[in-house]
Amino acid sequence: MENVKDKLIELFRKKKIKPSYHRLKIAEYLATHKNHPTAEMIYESLSQEIPTLSRTTVYNVLKLLKDKGLVQELNIDDKGIRYDFDISPHAHFKCIICGRVYDLHGIDFSSIMKREVDGHKVLSLQLN
Ligand SMILES: [Zn+2]
Repeated sequence: MENVKDKLIELFRKKKIKPSYHRLKIAEYLATHKNHPTAEMIYESLSQEIPTLSRTTVYNVLKLLKDKGLVQELNIDDKGIRYDFDISPHAHFKCIICGRVYDLHGIDFSSIMKREVDGHKVLSLQLN
């Protein structure tokens, strides 16, 4: 965990972001959770550990990270904007049974057109 934090401090320094406690905690959450969380999910998860954290802070930090190009915003469902620390172009797959959003790297586009990915049936497809 310490290693992640060191990398984030370095990344913040490069992007000229002051490494405040809340900023680092939120970035650390995104770097270590690949669940493409919404702001609300991040708030609920971190506020137990950090009682001083407010929803507004979470929203502000996410906006800052996005403006600095450290996270990308995803519009996958009506749960709200989800955040992804992986800013490389990649596909996302949402399972309608468990609700999880997965990363699909190096996916073969023809398999999507056949509407089958990793043994999952593709019900709808969204390109952006
Ligand atoms: Zn992703």
